[in-house]
Amino acid sequence: MRYFLIVICLLQSISSYSQDMEYARSIVDTLCSPHFDGRGYYDNGERRAAAFLSKEYEQIGLKSFGDNYLQEFKLTSNSIKGKIRLVVNGKKMVPGIDCLIDPSAPSYNGSSKVIYLDKDEMLNLDKFKRLLPMLANKFLIIDQTEFKEETGANKKQLNDLLLFLKFSPDIQLNGVIELVEKLTSTASQFQAKRPHVVILKEKTPKKLKKLELAIENVYDEDYQSQNVVGWIEGVVKDSFVMVVGHYDHLGRMGDDIYFPGANDNASGIAMILSLAKELAQGEKPKYSVVFICFGAEECGLVGSKYYSENPLFPLAQIKFLLNLDILGTGDDGIQVVNGSVHKDDFNRLVEINKEKDLLKEVKRRGKACISDHCFFSEQGVPSFYIYTLGGAGHYHDVNDHAENLTLREYNDLFRLLRTFILD
Ligand SMILES: [Zn+2]
Repeated sequence: MRYFLIVICLLQSISSYSQDMEYARSIVDTLCSPHFDGRGYYDNGERRAAAFLSKEYEQIGLKSFGDNYLQEFKLTSNSIKGKIRLVVNGKKMVPGIDCLIDPSAPSYNGSSKVIYLDKDEMLNLDKFKRLLPMLANKFLIIDQTEFKEETGANKKQLNDLLLFLKFSPDIQLNGVIELVEKLTSTASQFQAKRPHVVILKEKTPKKLKKLELAIENVYDEDYQSQNVVGWIEGVVKDSFVMVVGHYDHLGRMGDDIYFPGANDNASGIAMILSLAKELAQGEKPKYSVVFICFGAEECGLVGSKYYSENPLFPLAQIKFLLNLDILGTGDDGIQVVNGSVHKDDFNRLVEINKEKDLLKEVKRRGKACISDHCFFSEQGVPSFYIYTLGGAGHYHDVNDHAENLTLREYNDLFRLLRTFILD
């Protein structure tokens, strides 16, 4: 009989374990599906994702602060739509595989001569100034891979000049091509004066002579995004633990490609929803717990900044904030931004991890204003930003697909966070 009971308990725990993973998987699969178009701005993929998350909140049974879960705000946004055509020396480049267009690009349609500028010319400012007039009506080619051995002041000068060449309205230049080893994209809030294109160096002809480019941008001055906010009432009702992360990603780049954003950050959203589901089912937590899926992170932490400036209850009532962004692997443990700022809370994470034998390592890092905890942290809200380490994680590229995501340490991380929030 006892043996029988043990077997039943074991089966139950295995089934609830796989249930959680199944739920996490289904959230990641759904958010990365073509229906959400990479959760970007101009084609409303982000908005469809927010509607989906609202439905999940409702099903879980989260409370809302107002009539619904949405906190709306506006921003400007620039994206690339339609067909992308890039031909170098007569060879057609495939968007997403060979090249990417920076989302800040304006529309452009034409062919252009090119001119190379090397690292030494950029490090010698007199030479650089003399060369500037020669750039008129040409596409400039810069080999980024040459930059990587530089450090300190040289590296800063190269990066500053690259920004100047890409974006300064004061120079005559058709556009900038950067040769890179890896293609990663971003999102843009503004429209630049000239297009900026990145091409994989290995796919580029040795001597690039001529380029044809046809792209079309869409600039929206009044794009509406939204944060999705829900909560569970605690025993101490007016003290809050916040669990946050962004659901937006880079969206589409033209008709043919989109960025699925599985690791960044469908993985974090799956964790937020899993924790919400778990906490909503159990006993009342000691403190109220707020769950926020932020919009418009990728173009500059816009959603979380907006919330921090327009909070739904005073920020001083936040006991602790956990920002979850990129949780798809964990083979080498997790990194905790602000771990060296809030030492006691960090030590508590380490202790829980040790006690329960969960992750390989819980590593501390200092302050870093690189994700949605930033504006809360700046205003004195105790915050951690947690991301997973190790494994093959994709980042801001077209291969950040659900099927490429291992979620290797998802359950261990879930148990760690659950205990940290509830204890
Ligand atoms: Zn992210």
